[in-house]
Amino acid sequence: MPVTYLELLQKNDSAVYDAIEGEKNRQRLGVELIPSENYTYPEVLSALGSVFTNKYAEGYPGRRYYGGQQYTDIIEDLARERAKQVFRCEHANVQPLSGSPMNQAVYLGLLEPGDTILAMDLSHGGHLTHGAPVSHMGRIFNFERYKTNPADGSIDYDELLEIAKRTQPKLVLCGYTSYPRDIDYDAFKRIADEVGAITMVDASHFAGLVAGGVLENPFDHGFDIMTTTTHKSLRGPRGGMVLCRKEFAAKIDKSVFPGLQGGPHMNSIAGIAITLGKALEPEFKDYAEQVLLNAKALAQAFIERGVTLVTGGTDNHMIVVDTEASFGIDGRVAEEILDTISITVNKQIIPDDPNPPLRPSGIRMGSPAATARGMKEEHMKTLAGWMTVALQDPTNQALHKSIRSEVENLCRTFPVPGID
Ligand SMILES: *Cc1c(COP(=O)(O)O)cnc(C)c1O
Repeated sequence: MPVTYLELLQKNDSAVYDAIEGEKNRQRLGVELIPSENYTYPEVLSALGSVFTNKYAEGYPGRRYYGGQQYTDIIEDLARERAKQVFRCEHANVQPLSGSPMNQAVYLGLLEPGDTILAMDLSHGGHLTHGAPVSHMGRIFNFERYKTNPADGSIDYDELLEIAKRTQPKLVLCGYTSYPRDIDYDAFKRIADEVGAITMVDASHFAGLVAGGVLENPFDHGFDIMTTTTHKSLRGPRGGMVLCRKEFAAKIDKSVFPGLQGGPHMNSIAGIAITLGKALEPEFKDYAEQVLLNAKALAQAFIERGVTLVTGGTDNHMIVVDTEASFGIDGRVAEEILDTISITVNKQIIPDDPNPPLRPSGIRMGSPAATARGMKEEHMKTLAGWMTVALQDPTNQALHKSIRSEVENLCRTFPVPGID
């Protein structure tokens, strides 16, 4: 009987093995509510640990710079074709190593240094790679930022048009990392057309919901470019993709390789092919629907308990809780308290946050991982209750301890995909 990879690891490097087992247990016993995380499929874990990690495949299927590409070409073609089918687009590049390089590849491939990009302000929900001053892209390109409307927290499309006319961007970027509402793609497209800009959406957070047909597909609204990570709501391995219309295909491909990267990670691309295959199955639609239902149930349960949510609710998989307004504590303290009851969230700056990023005024939560585990609306309600009680009594350690055991008991009844 041959030993498994893990058995070998246990025998030969127990320090690493023990950390992996520890992490498995952590994932088992806690509720994962970080909206950018998920549990990938066991099939993907097996592809990630496969011999494709051994292979160099610089170039693209049919034109590589190394020999021995019979099987890598099959894998990458499968991933590209399935991506085109899932997202109804003309071209797909599945080689970006993760979300940040995928966005860099678009900017560097389609624009010149100093060109203007119009993107969402970081503190209003945009991502670091959308031109935050600390990112290198923020030094190379001129980012202009739009914000959300103070009245209801939604994107202010009138202000967006005004900024676009004034700053004449070459690229208009929508998409977010912390914004609980859907996007009006037609409004973005109209504004971009008005100034002759390329339209790009970074769907990293919600690509799984687009794939599952429960959120609008930007390509149905004439968008040029969509980027997405593969490890968030899509449930794949860590990676990134650039999807685009044919006219941008050659520039995007050249930008990813050789412009920005060397050899693609073929073991991840095998995982992406598997993930996209799953996204084409009818069960994935059910999953995406349940992600939305769970996020709404979580939001509703918090609202009923008097908790303040940024924008007052959600249209997608995430909610943003104003912990200062709701509990008089900052997001870091809230994150730490929820950690002690085995619920994982992350601290989050909220629009026009007076607090600094490491002690922001809010936390962000999302339903994709808990949904992958089989949790439903009733469990979201229960979790919201436990979280509210714990956060209303931030120093009561005995209370936190007793909630923690309830959380862990609940978790024991939900097997984790890829672990149990
Ligand atoms: C997560 C995320 C990224 C970056 O992904 P990494 O894989 O962490 O580099 C980019 N854009 C958005 C909107 C994201 O949410």
